[in-house]
Amino acid sequence: MAFELPKLNYSYDALDPHIDARTMEIHHSKHHAGYTSKLNAAIEGTVDAEKSIEDILSGDNLSAGVRNNGGGFYNHGLFWDIMSPNGGGDPAGELAEKINEAFGSFEEFKTKFSNAAATQFGSGWAWLCLKDGKLEVCSTPNQDNPVMGYGCGGTPILGIDVWEHAYYLNYQNRRPDYINAFFNVVDWDRVTAHMNNAK
Ligand code: MN
Repeated sequence: MAFELPKLNYSYDALDPHIDARTMEIHHSKHHAGYTSKLNAAIEGTVDAEKSIEDILSGDNLSAGVRNNGGGFYNHGLFWDIMSPNGGGDPAGELAEKINEAFGSFEEFKTKFSNAAATQFGSGWAWLCLKDGKLEVCSTPNQDNPVMGYGCGGTPILGIDVWEHAYYLNYQNRRPDYINAFFNVVDWDRVTAHMNNAK
């Protein structure tokens, strides 16, 4: 069964002005669609075609096609899901407690996550992961991710895309401004749901 490009739960202009509509449209309908179709082409007729994306990515000896396009498929699916026009603010409940435990405070977490995103050289992602019951921040290049064992090797519950295609139309080279704006659209309820699924 082929993987399908997931639909967004909001319109392309819903995250504006933090992420502009043109960027969202190209990012979803061209970039993510491309990773999806290339992933399907890479696994067609193989045993991977019957597996979940998580099972594929956690396997050994991924081909370049599966690593790059399977990573792109998974990473963007998480990215769209943890953003919302009703996002922003502070996390609550157990997620807030775990953030305080791991990083000292929400502000300290934001600094660490933003720094990981800003200093990822070239294209890649920064992550908040659950690993052995604790939260960790890490980053990975290209479409690699912790599910594959890169970065901290935990289960991602929040991710930010720092490829230039994610921000260049609106922010040009100002990646830190895009990272700051991202926090205005993070849906902490969805991040909490991913944390609970990862347990
Ligand atoms: Mn992207």
